[in-house]
Amino acid sequence: MLMVFTEPFIERATEEAVKKEKIKARQLRKSPWWKRKCAEGVCYFCGRNIRPKELTMEHVVPLMRGGKSSKGNVVPACKECNTRKKYLLPIEWEDYRKSLLEDTWS
Ligand SMILES: [Zn+2]
Repeated sequence: MLMVFTEPFIERATEEAVKKEKIKARQLRKSPWWKRKCAEGVCYFCGRNIRPKELTMEHVVPLMRGGKSSKGNVVPACKECNTRKKYLLPIEWEDYRKSLLEDTWS
């Protein structure tokens, strides 16, 4: 089966869609599901134990790229990973994640 993917660098969500997803994210943040996730106290990206209060909600696929505020697309992240993810290009972010994984095993 042939799958056709749209070019991720061209596709951009409309401002309207992003606004809607941000509102959804705010609601999701108040949900028992999210509170349970944070209570686990683990950063999704680096896997370190983080105090629940310091975890932030992070979209795996950014809203600007058409990501949704759904349970499948939001993860708890520590401040450090959150900040890095915002300023890195996707390819640099992958390198960062890989370097974290290598750290864990060395
Ligand atoms: Zn982290």
